[in-house]
Amino acid sequence: MNVYVDLDRTLFQTDRMKEVMEEIGKLYPEINPEEMYTNQTQFYVWSDDTTYAHDFSAQLISEGLDPDLVYGQLEQSDLADGRFEYDGAGEFIELLREKASPIILTYGFDDYQRFKAALCPSLQGIEIITMLQSKALFLEEINEPGWLVDDKAIGDELPSSTSFVQVSLDGDTSGISPDWPLLYSLRDAKTFFEDILSES
Ligand SMILES: [Mg+2]
Repeated sequence: MNVYVDLDRTLFQTDRMKEVMEEIGKLYPEINPEEMYTNQTQFYVWSDDTTYAHDFSAQLISEGLDPDLVYGQLEQSDLADGRFEYDGAGEFIELLREKASPIILTYGFDDYQRFKAALCPSLQGIEIITMLQSKALFLEEINEPGWLVDDKAIGDELPSSTSFVQVSLDGDTSGISPDWPLLYSLRDAKTFFEDILSES
């Protein structure tokens, strides 16, 4: 059984990106992390009113940096010690590796999404699919029974082959629906899938 798991705000604490910019400021003293943080919205590429992808590589280039070099340096730094993973991510992914086929399904620019995943030791070796189209379209094309775990309330957009679970790990309760399960921690997600996967 494929279990697709979103990356941003589902496994990865995207709202802590400022720490990445601070590390860049240590590596490159000419860079002002505060300014980078403030300017980041200029590098959001919007696909509709609510969906954007941060073109972080474009932002690095605008700072005069080489994105691949910087990503490589950051992946070698302390930032890759798992600090960006939500609590329980390791155990949750471990369970999915044992009992199912976990795949990271993430919206955004490929190099930046892979960089963030590379900062997560629990995701080492896991298949990663990045896209700039809707996950619903992708899952419709695949049309195989599976699950999607995501912090965005997209359950009613998905094809009937995909079962949906929403996680809310920062306490955000927008988009709550009685139509699908909502979990508030990855420990709960682990327990949920323990039950699901032992039934199948
Ligand atoms: Mg997300």
